Amino acid sequence: MTDFDEHYLKKELYELLQKDSATFDFLQKASLDGLWYWDLESPEHEWMSPEFWMTLGEDPANKKHLADEWKDIIHPKDLQIAISNFEKHLEDPNHPYDQIVRYKHKNGSTVWVRCRGFAIRDEDGTPIRMLGAHNNITKLMEMEQRYKKNLAALDELYASTKLALEESDEIFNQAPDAIIQVDSDGYITKSNEEASKLFGYSSTELSELKVDELVPSRYRDTHAKHRTDYHDNPSIRPMGKFRKGIFATHKDGHEIPVEIRLSVINTRFGRHTLATIRDISEYKALIESLEQKVRENETLSWQVSRDSLTGMYNRRYFEEIGHREFSNFHRHQIPLAIMMVDIDHFKSVNDTYGHAIGDVVLKRVAQCISEWTRSGDTFARIGGEEFAVLLPMTSANACEVLAERLRYKVEESEEALDPGGPRVTISIGVAVLKEEDTSLEDLMNRADKALYLSKQRGRNCVSSCDEMDVAHTEEF
Ligand code: GH3
Ligand code: MG
Ligand code: MG
Repeated sequence: MTDFDEHYLKKELYELLQKDSATFDFLQKASLDGLWYWDLESPEHEWMSPEFWMTLGEDPANKKHLADEWKDIIHPKDLQIAISNFEKHLEDPNHPYDQIVRYKHKNGSTVWVRCRGFAIRDEDGTPIRMLGAHNNITKLMEMEQRYKKNLAALDELYASTKLALEESDEIFNQAPDAIIQVDSDGYITKSNEEASKLFGYSSTELSELKVDELVPSRYRDTHAKHRTDYHDNPSIRPMGKFRKGIFATHKDGHEIPVEIRLSVINTRFGRHTLATIRDISEYKALIESLEQKVRENETLSWQVSRDSLTGMYNRRYFEEIGHREFSNFHRHQIPLAIMMVDIDHFKSVNDTYGHAIGDVVLKRVAQCISEWTRSGDTFARIGGEEFAVLLPMTSANACEVLAERLRYKVEESEEALDPGGPRVTISIGVAVLKEEDTSLEDLMNRADKALYLSKQRGRNCVSSCDEMDVAHTEEF
């Protein structure tokens, strides 16, 4: 092994340095940013190399090699440290004189210098000189400061990202709806507490499932296909756009009506589908009960306005419409006519064939009249075997013609029946509303009178009260 200190080239270099100052100059210029040599016996004298000053932006020509010259531009705190190290080093050669100090550059910027030195002592060990060297480490320090700053920014970014992640997890977990996140293969990658409540699986169990398993088995295959389609071509939309009502399957097998909204998110693992699922059992039950109520109300209002035997309107409804039309006559001069219809000799039908057959006849006649009344007219059973028709916008003549048609249609249809059974005819009385009428009853009374007239005239005919006492129409 070569003894490095004893190398011939080292010896040669050392000798060269002693003999040739140019070698020494090269060495210090090339490796140092300043050299100083201090006379400790006369401490105001300190030789400083031109590089020493040039590093600090100063002109060496203006300098006088006095120790005070650098003390003005070194940072006061760093000066304290340097002095303290200097004193300790003088006391104990093993204490290093080595520190990083800040100098003020002539342009105002800071120059970071690593300043090292050692004391040269006489035979008694008394320090008589101090040799020092400077290295400009400003770039290094600036880089370190930038690095520290970047590190701080990174820390901050990490902290805020972590916070944002925690917040989004919180939102995910606190959401009032069940949310599940599904990867491109249909596996559940994330789910919230509501999802566990809704489906009856723990979040660990859910993370081992394919989302298709939460779908009733009969829809599973189509669901898997739709899921893939959606993943390839996503948009925010409710699921089951084309199907009425969608269902999920609970762990225990029961089906839950649900509403599902789909969206996609980009994750570290690629595009995932986010399904927000709401249990709508209660909502559905509410809708069903409302629909039931509506149906009940419809039945009720039907019952209120209808005659139970014939299914035609009843007297109550007839009078309600009649009063409305009566007002219209006075308010808007809209004419109103009425027909009173009574089955002839109906008592004898009951007597001969029995009450039940009488009911059949009643229904039959009601049906026939109803078929031949106009859509805007109101036909009702207002008594046992009595009916009435309210005809808005109808004159006396038109009313008589229509009455005659009804009478004829009943007669015609009854004649077509089996001669062995009951066959009936109807008598009709018609009247139109007059200015002097004070109520609907006035009109009805006049129509009743006309009906009485038809009975007197032998039945199966039409009479009008408005055509004077004897007025009546001939058969068609
Ligand atoms: P007219 O030609 O004079 O009208 O004679 P009529 O026998 O039809 O008249 P009357 O008023 O004497 O008798 C009406 C009968 O109608 C009496 C009643 O038993 C019967 N009747 C009333 N309501 C019903 C019902 O809902 N069903 C049945 N089967 N008969 C009824
Ligand atoms: Mg009768
Ligand atoms: Mg009668």
